[in-house]
Amino acid sequence: MANLLNDLFWIIFPRLCAACGNALSTGEKVICTPCRYQLPATHAHANANNPVIKRFWGKTPVNAATSLLFYSKNSKVQQLIYNFKYYGYKEVGLEMGKMYGSQLKDTPSFMSADLIIPVPLHKNKRRLRGYNQSELFAEGLSVAMNIPCDFNSLVRSVATNTQTRKRRYNRGGLVSVD
Ligand SMILES: [Zn+2]
Repeated sequence: MANLLNDLFWIIFPRLCAACGNALSTGEKVICTPCRYQLPATHAHANANNPVIKRFWGKTPVNAATSLLFYSKNSKVQQLIYNFKYYGYKEVGLEMGKMYGSQLKDTPSFMSADLIIPVPLHKNKRRLRGYNQSELFAEGLSVAMNIPCDFNSLVRSVATNTQTRKRRYNRGGLVSVD
């Protein structure tokens, strides 16, 4: 029911910036132009030894890792994530995927990827939420980078506890969109 109401809200009032809430101008989509320039980009993809890949060091071999934005409480980034995760504004994920894909397509370690695979949601959670945010972000990346996306090869078989994931991903400003 909550999802349905949220979807209806965004159908009736779809022309507000998902980050700042200001009205979008003609030609602007989901995120207004000032926000697109002001959102705190990490530029981590341009740094091979960025803080994201350092988290994997000593745990698992990873060729490259990156993150789009810095997260902080009561920020535009938090508002974007809330709109995306909790208020049913699915286009946020698609648009942010496209935004980042347009940068990653010119970055050697990412442009050579064969396939984009979103982090799967457990089927119970997917049923509850109605969609998987990672798939929308992946779809945006796929469109902008012209790399195929595979939604079916990876399945989450265990319903991981939310708090566990928060502890794992949320420290130091990293946020998982799953
Ligand atoms: Zn804005």
